[in-house]
Amino acid sequence: MPRPIMATISVPAMQHNLNQVVAGLNADARQAGRTAPKVWAVIKAGAYGHGLAQGLAGFTAADGLAMLDLDEALACREAGWQGPLMLLEGFFEFEDISFVDTHRLTVSVHDEAQLRMLEQSSPSQPIRVNLKVNGGMHRLGFAPQAAVQAWQRLLALQKKGVVGELGTMMHFSRADDDPIVTQEQLSAFLALTSDMQGPVSVCNSAATLTPALWTQLPEARAQWVRPGICLYGSSPYAHRSASELGLRPAMTLEARIIGVQDCQPGSSVGYGHLFTASQPTRVGIVACGYADGYPRHAGTGTPVTVAGQPSRLLGRVSMDMLAVDLTHIASAGVGSRVVLWGEGGPSVDEVAEAAGTVGYELLCALAPRVPRRIEPVLRVEPNSGEHE
Ligand SMILES: *Cc1c(COP(=O)(O)O)cnc(C)c1O
Repeated sequence: MPRPIMATISVPAMQHNLNQVVAGLNADARQAGRTAPKVWAVIKAGAYGHGLAQGLAGFTAADGLAMLDLDEALACREAGWQGPLMLLEGFFEFEDISFVDTHRLTVSVHDEAQLRMLEQSSPSQPIRVNLKVNGGMHRLGFAPQAAVQAWQRLLALQKKGVVGELGTMMHFSRADDDPIVTQEQLSAFLALTSDMQGPVSVCNSAATLTPALWTQLPEARAQWVRPGICLYGSSPYAHRSASELGLRPAMTLEARIIGVQDCQPGSSVGYGHLFTASQPTRVGIVACGYADGYPRHAGTGTPVTVAGQPSRLLGRVSMDMLAVDLTHIASAGVGSRVVLWGEGGPSVDEVAEAAGTVGYELLCALAPRVPRRIEPVLRVEPNSGEHE
């Protein structure tokens, strides 16, 4: 018998979330009297912990897929994806350029070193490039003046046939929580790139779900948004839940109770005795711990669902187990189903908040030892490749 823990990955939920995002973009575009942006579905980090194959199955309707690892791009091509693929961090060394060439990848160029490598390369066909501008986050991207010079060098490479379609991209640092800073970043980007033609991509999930932002981009340039987290059913915002946004959890983590303890007032639970009973307390021990990816920083009170009833975590999370309160759930005992997050339980965002982190981290950190059950694909249509 395997340990009673399981993660269910729902491809239909991923399809639903993409549909939901696209429907929102279409409705907002109609209202603004413009065309809707195209969508890069972001599937980096093994589709945010859901598995690359599930990302591919869930997002066949996307216009393109975006990732970081060359291996992930290769896996998409090998799985038959004909459409656009973008390396969000571009290539890392000179040898990567022939890989980019062979597999027809779109690359971000964010640094002088990449530019020099491109200038030394002679690909068999022009490479699609997005020049990445540092919009104020100071993570990746050219500073404003340097970006103008980089653009000129990329135009020269375009004339030589090394670079194909050339666009621009930027990443917001506070699209989830500060509209004023975000508007400043967008305005600065628009001013800097006003003479730069080609497709433009600036929106992560938080900005994709904020039409006031992307509707400011010039109509004449093809726009590509880059949602990630929302496609997996987790909210990019601290104060708007995924369900409010019409999103469904793509990952459900569940386990079973494997032991029960009756604690008298004054007795404590778990390492460090962080929880001490003040009244008679029935404690369920669940087969899930931080070695499964459940956050150790979650403390007493973190929401959990036991036998369909809302309950709470008690004390410190161990490596392989955690404790929950069964006092008010008489029917619960060994074998009862516990939903740690996802469908039928608290949202991953609620658990993340209790642990002082974000849903992204929990989804990506699901441990390899947790068995996965993949919910069936309702309908998969191979990408037609019409954007190629
Ligand atoms: C991860 C990533 C995204 C997606 O961000 P979400 O917040 O998950 O929507 C978009 N763009 C870039 C460059 C990224 O690295």
